[in-house]
Amino acid sequence: MVAYPADFYKVVSTATTLADNVTMIKFLARQGDRHSLVGMCMGEQGIISRVLGVRAGSVFTFASAIAGEETAPGQVTAQELRNVYRIERVDVATRVYGVAGDPVAHSLSPAIMNAAFRRENVNAVYLALHAKTLKDLLTCVREIPIHGISVTMPYKEAILHHLDNTDSHTTKIGACNTVVRAQDGNLYGFNTDASGIVRPLERRLNTLEGARILVIGAGGAARAAVFGLKERGSEVYILNRTAGPAKKLAHQARARIVKRADLKKLAFDVIINATPVGMGNTRDTPLQDKEINSRYVFDMIYDPGETRFLKLAKERGAQVIPGIEMFAHQAARQFEIWTGKPAPWDEMLRVVLLALQERSNRSTSSK
Ligand code: NAP
Repeated sequence: MVAYPADFYKVVSTATTLADNVTMIKFLARQGDRHSLVGMCMGEQGIISRVLGVRAGSVFTFASAIAGEETAPGQVTAQELRNVYRIERVDVATRVYGVAGDPVAHSLSPAIMNAAFRRENVNAVYLALHAKTLKDLLTCVREIPIHGISVTMPYKEAILHHLDNTDSHTTKIGACNTVVRAQDGNLYGFNTDASGIVRPLERRLNTLEGARILVIGAGGAARAAVFGLKERGSEVYILNRTAGPAKKLAHQARARIVKRADLKKLAFDVIINATPVGMGNTRDTPLQDKEINSRYVFDMIYDPGETRFLKLAKERGAQVIPGIEMFAHQAARQFEIWTGKPAPWDEMLRVVLLALQERSNRSTSSK
């Protein structure tokens, strides 16, 4: 290409893995000083190169004027590049963070974390990392390098084997949702889901010490809730569809098991739904109305914003806590771990509620 004089040389490939972006970014970093280059990878896996390419030396990047007018696969709108990723501020010093999972296209994390970085003037950008394998993700983390990741399905447990250290809380839960890449390249794992449960409750109850709390479910999120609440001195009860995981968790955390048949006789300060029952358009609820005897009901599900379970709980006179508060608080804790600054929690909740509202408007108008 250099044989032909040009204002810019544009090199575009299609990324089929996250690591393909590393190849492009390294190429731009190596050649960007010598030639006027524009480089990026197409495809969903290449979206990160549309932001990081500029950081590595691409003179400019491409975006669509409006949604629906994309001219290449993976192209994002100019508005998203500017408002969410703050492309005009991305430079060599910009730290890179992201949410890693499969799938991640609908994650609300880029909206909430980039808003927090903007509000607190942190020179950082947060991307969606669609990792089809853990190996691909780890290559990207090491090579770009990425300073921190929010880990989501299906890698929360598997990533533990690739970390250099984890805090004791994360080891007990057996799942990691937050990774920090230290200066020396070592990877440290944390779990912030417990903060996502404990913080909204502490804002409402005077103390969690001695509070009677029922956790429905015994999966990863329930484990984070049970251990987090036990650390605060709560009296924790577990109800799960399958006996085995509930027994194991109750034994490990010194919590108690509850039989569904006994629920009508029991009263709690808080009931927490840590199962996917009630997600999406279903009318299913994890408990029937007569089984809801509690001052507060907390549903981890945030889509829909108000589940049928929360509606039932309101009818029973309980105060309700929607899952989006958990989402915002666990993200706020990640922000604190990564930056050492207090998180702009109110702004984070505002942005994520807005994003959920926009999503719900889009799905209503497309019906
Ligand atoms: P998980 O590890 O797969 O555990 C799922 C739990 O739900 C298990 O205890 C399972 O019981 C139970 N369950 C699944 N389907 C059920 C059904 N039809 N009826 C009764 N119980 C059922 O999932 P997770 O990661 O813990 O997530 C649980 C929920 O929390 C999900 O809805 C997730 O979206 C939500 N969550 C929200 C946030 C947030 O920020 N708001 C964060 C994390 C998770 P068995 O043992 O019988 O299979």
